[in-house]
Formats: sequence, C-alpha cells, structure tokens
Amino acid sequence: MATVSFWGGVGVIGSSKILVEQGGWRVLLDFGLDYTPGAGPFRAGVTPRPGRELHDRILTGLAPRIPHVYRTDFLEGTGLAGGADGQTALFITHAHLDHMGLTGFVDPDLPLYAGPETIRLVQALAESGDRVEGGVPAFRSLPAGESVEVGPLRVTRYEVDHDVAGASGYRVDTENGALAFTGDIRLHGRHPEKSLAFAQAVQGARALVIEGTTLSMGFRNPVRTEAEVDALFDEALERTPGLVMVSLYQRNVERVEAFVAAARRHGRRFLWPPAQARALSAWFGRAMAEWGDPAVSGDIHRHPEQFAIQLPGYEVPWMLDFDPGPGSLYVHANGEPLGAYDPLWDVLQEWLRMRRVPFWAIGTSGHASPEDLNRLVSIVHPDILFPLHSQEPDRLLPPPGVERWLPERGRYYDLGGRR
Ligand SMILES: [Zn+2]
Repeated sequence: MATVSFWGGVGVIGSSKILVEQGGWRVLLDFGLDYTPGAGPFRAGVTPRPGRELHDRILTGLAPRIPHVYRTDFLEGTGLAGGADGQTALFITHAHLDHMGLTGFVDPDLPLYAGPETIRLVQALAESGDRVEGGVPAFRSLPAGESVEVGPLRVTRYEVDHDVAGASGYRVDTENGALAFTGDIRLHGRHPEKSLAFAQAVQGARALVIEGTTLSMGFRNPVRTEAEVDALFDEALERTPGLVMVSLYQRNVERVEAFVAAARRHGRRFLWPPAQARALSAWFGRAMAEWGDPAVSGDIHRHPEQFAIQLPGYEVPWMLDFDPGPGSLYVHANGEPLGAYDPLWDVLQEWLRMRRVPFWAIGTSGHASPEDLNRLVSIVHPDILFPLHSQEPDRLLPPPGVERWLPERGRYYDLGGRR
C-alpha cells in the first residue's frame, strides 16, 4: 500500500513538501521554505537565530518533523532523528526558495535530485553569495524523461513551464498507480507545450497534486502572456525619454535575456546590481554590466536615456545617486518586492512618489490561471485530485469522475483506498 502526506503548501502558497511512501521506502517531492513576508513568527526584523536556523524553524512549525532527512548536527534540541536511512530520496522541482530553501539542511548521504538547469542556476546564484541556509546542497542531476528507482517506487522527471529556468513536474509510480506533481506550472509562458506534454504524459494518474496559487487572486482571463510582457517593456523603452528602472526577478533568466536584448535595440545598456551581475554572468557565461561604481552613477545621471537599470525595491536609495529626473519610469516586472503583500511594496511606492517617478506594472504570473488549472486537470483526469500550494484550494472544482481530496498537513492518504 502506498500513501501520500503533505508537510507544507497546505493552505499556503509555497513551502511544498510531499511525501510518498511504500513498504518503508520514501520519496520526498520538494523541500521549500515558507515565503510569507509580513506574516508568521519571523518578520519585522525577527529571524531564526544564526547557527540554529533549522532548530528555530522546526520548533515554530516552519520546517517539517520528518525523521532521517536532515543532517544530525542541525537537529540538536529538536528531538528529531537525523541522518539518511538509505530508503529515502528527495526530488526538487525548481530553483525557487519556497521549493528548495531547506535543501541546505539535508543529510549529504540522502540522494537529492534536480534537473540540470536547476542545479546550474543554484550554482550561479551561490557564486554571487545567494546561498540557501545550512550547507551547500549536493544535487544529483536527473535529465528530463529519465527515471530513478527508490526501492519499489519509480520517479520520472518532466519539464514544465514556470517563471524560472528548468522547472519540473514529477511522476511517482507506486503499486497503487502513479502520483503526479505539477510543481509550479503555467500555460501562458514561453513554453506551454512543455506543461501540456507533462499533463499528457501523466494522463490517467491515480492522483494529481496540482499547485493552485492563483485560485485566491481574483484572476481575470485572459491572463497576460510572456510575449505581451516583452511588448510592454519595448513600449516602456520607446516612450521613456529618461531613465528606465526595472524590477524583474533574476531567476527568470529567459525574461532577463529578453529585456537585455530589448534595451540594446533601443540604444540602452542594461545594468545590474553587482551581486546579480555576478550570478547572471555565471549563468550566461558572459559579463553582465553592473552599476554601483560612482563613475557609472555619474554616467547614468548625465545620460539617463542611455540606460535601463535593474533596481530592486530594497536598493531604492541608489536613486539618490542616479537622480533620475523628470521623464524617467519605474517598471515592475515581478521582481522584488514580489507583490503588495510584501511591506517593501509600500516603501518602494513612497520613494517613487518622493522622487516623482511613475510606476508601471507590466509583469505576469508564473502560475497558471484558474481556467488553465482546470484545463490541466481535465487533460490528466486523475482518480484523485489534491490541490496544493494555495490559500483557497477549495476553489479548484474537479471535473466529473475526479474525486477531490483537500490535503491536511501531516495526514496520511492511502493511494489504494479511500480517504
Ligand atoms: Zn516557483
């Protein structure tokens, strides 16, 4: 008998952790951090204590109490057994912290798999100092379409489209049929064919675990495509006589590439904060230009029309040096702050008002719209549907013939039987 249990992503966006078990063998899908700025026990300057990050997360319920996953030395005072048991493997869907942020605490003897692009992106970010807490995770590469056996369980990786390179879905074959997990997925990005091919490959699965980020977001269809985002950025470059400041998420390297090329077409150099420039240079294998040097700030101030600069919300004081002046624009394209739920959002707005810089949000979600979630469920048509990674999973209604089970944290569901 195979079971599935959920140790994160229940009633929240992010923090996904799915445990599939059969005969003492275990497959863990994703191992993310909670990402809830402005909410939870760690906020407003309160953080887990240095050196005791995992301890503090476990005791506040922010990291799961699963035995034989973590490195033993991180677990002092938690009462939880660490070290690998030789019967467990962990699989990561993509390089977003809410899916892989706890991997630095995993015992190095526990096999930890991810797609090759995910591994390369994590390494590029680490080179710029952007590392996960704990140690450096020792990933093993699992190319798309290939499988790994974990005792009687077989895990296969597929590519899907999301707003980060190398995003994956997984299929876990058990004695009670297949469990498929979408990871984070969408149909309005640059590669909808990948997401659709995954849905077709897992058609008729016993269980589908699907993300439901947008269910609580009041999305209106049609949702903006990545091509439309590119066109809006083109328009911003075309119509702005002064400096174009941008906040885009650097892990979305395909959008990075498109925006840099667009700036070049409009005779502007695209400049990055130094740490992001290092990470992107490592990813692209060519030097990305950076701001931060006083001489560069002077150039930007004198010739704002020759530049587009990445200026995440937490870097706004640099505006005092760039002094963008009238005719400049701030373009938000899903960078930090990621949304209005982040206290940084209001800070950014205040700075822009103070400097009289208009704000234009041109981004699009990395997550499928409610209509596209329904489409994916209809293609897979599983026996059992588990909506996860959502504040309102009950908004996803199953089509006829599909049973919906709303996951509860830490509860075991028998894939061979009833709830
Ligand atoms: Zn994601």
